[in-house]
Amino acid sequence: MSQAEQTETVDEDGVIESVSGPVVTATDLDARMNDVVYVGDEGLMGEVIEIEGNLTTIQVYEETSGVGPGEPVENTGEPLSVDLGPGMLDSIYDGVQRPLDVLEDKMGTAFLDRGVDAPGIDLEKEWEFEPEVAEGDVVEPGDIVGVVPETVTIEHKVMVPPDYEGGEVTSVESGEFSVEETIVELDNGEEIQMHQEWPVREARPAGDKETPTEPLVTGQRVQDGLFPLAKGGTAAIPGPFGSGKTVTQQQLAKWSDADIVVYIGCGERGNEMTEVIEDFPELPDPQTGNPLMARTCLIANTSNMPVAARESCIYTGITIAEYYRDMGYDVALMADSTSRWAEAMREISSRLEEMPGEEGYPAYLAASLSEFYERAGKFQLINGDEGSISVVGAVSPPGGDFSEPVTQNTLRIVKTFWALDADLAERRHFPSIDWNESYSLYKDQLDPWWEDNIAGDWSDVRQWAVDVLDEEDELQEIVQLVGKDALPEDQQLTLEIARYLREAWLQQNALHDVDTYCEPEKTYRMLTAIKTFNDEAFEALEAGVPVDEIQNVDAAPRLNRMGTAEEWNEFIDEIEDDLKEQLRALY
Ligand code: ADP
Repeated sequence: MSQAEQTETVDEDGVIESVSGPVVTATDLDARMNDVVYVGDEGLMGEVIEIEGNLTTIQVYEETSGVGPGEPVENTGEPLSVDLGPGMLDSIYDGVQRPLDVLEDKMGTAFLDRGVDAPGIDLEKEWEFEPEVAEGDVVEPGDIVGVVPETVTIEHKVMVPPDYEGGEVTSVESGEFSVEETIVELDNGEEIQMHQEWPVREARPAGDKETPTEPLVTGQRVQDGLFPLAKGGTAAIPGPFGSGKTVTQQQLAKWSDADIVVYIGCGERGNEMTEVIEDFPELPDPQTGNPLMARTCLIANTSNMPVAARESCIYTGITIAEYYRDMGYDVALMADSTSRWAEAMREISSRLEEMPGEEGYPAYLAASLSEFYERAGKFQLINGDEGSISVVGAVSPPGGDFSEPVTQNTLRIVKTFWALDADLAERRHFPSIDWNESYSLYKDQLDPWWEDNIAGDWSDVRQWAVDVLDEEDELQEIVQLVGKDALPEDQQLTLEIARYLREAWLQQNALHDVDTYCEPEKTYRMLTAIKTFNDEAFEALEAGVPVDEIQNVDAAPRLNRMGTAEEWNEFIDEIEDDLKEQLRALY
C-alpha cells in the first residue's frame, strides 16, 4: 500500500465488532468500498469489502490472531494502491507491495511480523532524470516527459499520469531527483513526479486492443513450436502436483523475450518461492547478459502468508505490469498459482457467509478470473504508442482433475492451454506438456511471423510433425493390442519417427545449460533434421530396405543430442549428411 504521501487518518473512527480469521467487522467506521484501513492497536492493513448500514466488513492482509473486539479501526480514505516509479524492477514484494528486503531490515526477518508498512519504492533515492520535453511543449495524459536509467537493462519512462488533464509545460528539470520531487510543471498547475499511485483494482486506461501478431518467444520447443503464445496473449498451465508447473513458469520468466517480467508467487510453498528469490538474482538475462532481475519484479506471497494478501497480490502484479506496458514495453506476467488465489477468494467468501457456487468457490469466481485475464492484451496506448501484457497463469487442480471449477473457468478465457500430464512427468518426459490435450488459438496469426523471420515453410513442417504425432497416437492403440511387430513396415517407421519427435524435439531439459533455452531457429532446424531422417528413411523403405536396418543406422540416435549441442548448426548439418549417406548406402 502506498505510504508515499502519508494520508491523514481520522482518529479511531471505528471499533472492531468481530474477528474471524482474515475477516474483521467494525462499527461506526465512515468508509467507502475498497478503502484501506488500519485495524486494531497494531494497525494491520486491511481493505473494506462490504458495507451494510453501520457495519463494515474488512479483509485484513496480515495475520489477525490476538486482535479483538473493541480495538480501533482507522480509515485512510484511499483505495488499495501501488506505488509506481523507478525502483520496482529488481524488487521483491509481498502481496501488498511491501518490499521484502525493507521489511526484513525493519523486523530482522521477512514474512513474519505485522503492522509494519513500507513504501513500494524508495522515496529517498535519487535518480538521474533526463527530460524529453521542453518548456512550451504541450503534453497529454500518458505522454513521456523524460527517462530515467532504472536498471542496466531498462530505461524507465516518466509519464504524465493518466488521470491528469495535461497542458503546456511551464518548467522542466534535469538531473538527480528523488521520486517525490516535481520535475515537470504544467500551465494548469499540474505537477509531475517520477512517482505515481494507482488503485490496484482498476485497470489503467489504454486504447483499443489489437490483434497480437508476434510470438512471446519462450525458448521452449514444445511451446514455441506447437502451442505458441502471442505477445499480449493469455495462457494457462494446469497440471497436478509435481508435473512441472513451477519449472515451466520459471523457464518463461527466465527465457521469454519480454522486456519486463512480473512474477507472482501466489500461495505456493515458501521453499519454492525462496528458490526463485535466491536463483533469480544470480541469473543472467539471455538477451542482454545483464542480471535477470534488472528486468524482473517479483511478488512473493507464499502459503504461510495471510490469505487476504494472496487475494491482492494478483492485482498488485497486474497493475505494475500495466504501468510498464504504458511505457511501450512488452510485459510478461506469470502467476503461480491462480488456484491458490481462487482458494483465497473462497476462504474469504465463506467467512462472509456468501452463497457458495460450485465446489464452495464464490459465484463471482468466473468473473474475477476473466477480469484478471482481460487486463492482458496488445494495446494501443493512450499516448499513441503500443505495449503489451502477456499473462500466464498456473492452475493446480486438486488431484489433477481438469473438470474442477478453476481449470474450467480458466479454459473458457485463455487462448493458449499448456496441459501438463502426470504420466509424462512420471516417465520423465519434460516439459510434460501433453501434445494431445494442449492447444493454441494464436497459431494462425503467428505463422506469418515465423515465416518471415525463421523459415518460409514453417507451418508445413509443423503440420507434418503434428500429423506424425497424431498418427502415433492412433497406432499406439493397435500396438497395445497386437504389438509393434504386427504393424506393416511403414507404420513401424512412422512410430520410430514419432519417437524422435518426442524424445529429441518435444523433450527439453530445463536443467541442462544448453538445452534449457532453444532459439526459434534451432527449434525449426531440429524439426527439419528429423524430417530429413523421415524423408530419407521412407525412400529407403520404398527401395526395399527392411525397417530394422533403417532404424539401426548409426547417425539416427545422434538426433537425440541436438538439443544439448552448443554448435547446433554444424552438429545438425553433419547428422543430416551422415543420415543421407548411411541410408542411401543401404540400397
Ligand atoms: P509442480 O509445480 O507442478 O508441482 P515442479 O515444477 O516443481 O512441479 O516440477 C517437479 C519436478 O519435475 C522438478 O523438480 C524437476 O525435477 C522436474 N521438471 C519439471 N519440468 C522440467 C523440465 N522442463 N526439465 C527438467 N526437469 C523438469
